Amino acid sequence: MAFPSSSTAFAQSSCALPDITRDWLYQSTMKMRYRTAYNGDGYGVHPSTTSFTMHEEAHVQAGKVILDLHLLGQNFARGGGTWSYQWTGIAGAKVCKPGYHRYGAAVDFTRFDWGSNNFVDTAVHGKDSRLFMRRRYLAVIATFRKHFGTVLHCHNDPDGSHWNHIHADRGRTAVAANWGYQTDTTIIQWAARDLAGVKDMAIDGDFGPQTTKGFQLLRERFGAADVDPTKSGANLRIWLNLIGRHAMADKEAGAYTVNESMRAEAAAEGE
Ligand SMILES: [Zn+2]
Repeated sequence: MAFPSSSTAFAQSSCALPDITRDWLYQSTMKMRYRTAYNGDGYGVHPSTTSFTMHEEAHVQAGKVILDLHLLGQNFARGGGTWSYQWTGIAGAKVCKPGYHRYGAAVDFTRFDWGSNNFVDTAVHGKDSRLFMRRRYLAVIATFRKHFGTVLHCHNDPDGSHWNHIHADRGRTAVAANWGYQTDTTIIQWAARDLAGVKDMAIDGDFGPQTTKGFQLLRERFGAADVDPTKSGANLRIWLNLIGRHAMADKEAGAYTVNESMRAEAAAEGE
């Protein structure tokens, strides 16, 4: 659905629109857990299964993210293993405060867990010194953008609060990328830096000359000369799938390139 404009969303703090309460995403075995604290190393502590209230559309779209993360674990796990998705950490969903949380259209995520110590903790891994962990966080971000309009994270943080969680709001199938939009630009910058080796790339949401070069480098490596992500949602999804696969598998850009099955898959994902 089309949620109210952001000026309307931020004008009030009263809760609105119908909601549902669930303790799982995608399927009932894939539980949500509330992050209650941090341990001494800064990782979130998520003691037990917790129910959250949100708009039904946010629940459906978050479920699509979780399914995609499960499939990335099945097919593109680092080192070639097969990871089965287990549970998701959450900091909050419907909350009566200004913004999309008051409609239940926004959810704050804290952890994505495939078991056997394979996970992303959003308070730590986005700025981890280990490239493979930053890549795994990037895989999560790219996957979110397939199913949500706005994705805030440690490098797209307008109010300084997203160093420790990923905020996603207004679930929808990806529309064409817009380089004036920080959600989209930061993903390209992050991919150029951590998948294509542009080590001095600033992840600042500003699509300037350096970002243009990084984008062109990725486009070459991905074999995506004719896949302009600003032209269609399907094209953007091809890019997001490529970024997600490289990032999850911990591979340099170019390990996977655009092919017919990727085009068909990204087109079908919009249906
Ligand atoms: Zn939030």
